[in-house]
Amino acid sequence: MRREWTMVLLAAIGCRGEKIMSHKAEISRSEEEWRSLLTPEQFRIARKKGTERAFTGALWDNKKEGEYRCVCCDLPLFSSSAKYESGTGWPSFFEPVSADAVVTENDSSLFMTRTEILCRRCMAHLGHVFPDGPAPTGMRFCTNSAALSFVPKEAPSP
Ligand code: FE
Repeated sequence: MRREWTMVLLAAIGCRGEKIMSHKAEISRSEEEWRSLLTPEQFRIARKKGTERAFTGALWDNKKEGEYRCVCCDLPLFSSSAKYESGTGWPSFFEPVSADAVVTENDSSLFMTRTEILCRRCMAHLGHVFPDGPAPTGMRFCTNSAALSFVPKEAPSP
């Protein structure tokens, strides 16, 4: 009897968990398609929730003006105007380019509880968000260079 209740309880928790985690990708491709479109490093990070080593990515120290887009689907995610030097070795922003550019999910892997950030359109893994960022939001969107493509702001025409 007790075991049955445990099963019911687990099922209930499972359903609730699923509901919370049920962000749906607008752009959805098979693993093979993503693999063919991305470099192995981009695939490992954006599609397999990997993390690049700190201070090794192409964009952590990028100070140019421009837009950071999803490496998988090209959705604009962050602006250089919200980028700041966090000292972590990963591109860090105090906010996304718009409230609906990214979605978050709970991530309890690696014995930690963190909040994962994903591209709203294709569910690419971008990194994690932490409540230790600067003003005005106090948030740190800690991303992987390999999950982003940088588009420099066009120089004004002469
Ligand atoms: Fe995307």
